[in-house]
Amino acid sequence: MLIMLIEDEGALREVIEYSLGREGFQVISFENANDALIALDEGRPDLVLLDLMLPGLQGMQFLDILRQNDRKTPVIVISARNSEADIIKALERGADDYLPKPFGLKLLETKIRVVLRRQGEQLGEGSVLSGCGVKLDLEAHKAAIGGTEPQLTLKEFDLLALFLRRPEKVFTRDQLLNLVWGYESELNSRTVDAHVATLRKKLGDKGRHIKTLPKIGYLWDPKALDEQGEEIR
Ligand code: CA
Repeated sequence: MLIMLIEDEGALREVIEYSLGREGFQVISFENANDALIALDEGRPDLVLLDLMLPGLQGMQFLDILRQNDRKTPVIVISARNSEADIIKALERGADDYLPKPFGLKLLETKIRVVLRRQGEQLGEGSVLSGCGVKLDLEAHKAAIGGTEPQLTLKEFDLLALFLRRPEKVFTRDQLLNLVWGYESELNSRTVDAHVATLRKKLGDKGRHIKTLPKIGYLWDPKALDEQGEEIR
């Protein structure tokens, strides 16, 4: 198991490296999140331990960037910021767990094992959503249309998953905001419109299945037709 550790405090980094190493984990450490991001391009660790207050790119920014296209790699935040608001924010933005500093190494190891175990259980489920020739691999977070794989952002993917789960259901913009964005309350319905627009574009002809109901919202129409009035292939 490869653990990516992002922590700018040298002493803490060494202690974590040493104790996880003794438990049989392989640890690759970074003093800042910028270098860690570059390393991610070359391969994914099994888990990320992420400090929040870092020089340069902040921990939360790193988390946001990671979660844009990777919902799978588990992240445990380790931070001196320990207010309830900080913890909730990190969890809602995609962290799997949060360990306020200072913490005991045994607790850290236990949390790592629990998160990895949970991850393993989820991977076993193997869930794929499909409809109208669009396929969503919920684990790999990938969309496929025939032989092509449109690159969707996290929110576009969630929107599409929602549509495919409930074809022909009318969603108002407010409902979509709640279901897909939820906690980011500063957003408004224009956010929904903008994401639906980019999602449609990325889906090509299949984007026609997303029907706009003026002043109401959107729905996924499985019976939508193409410009020539024929079934969409
Ligand atoms: Ca720090």
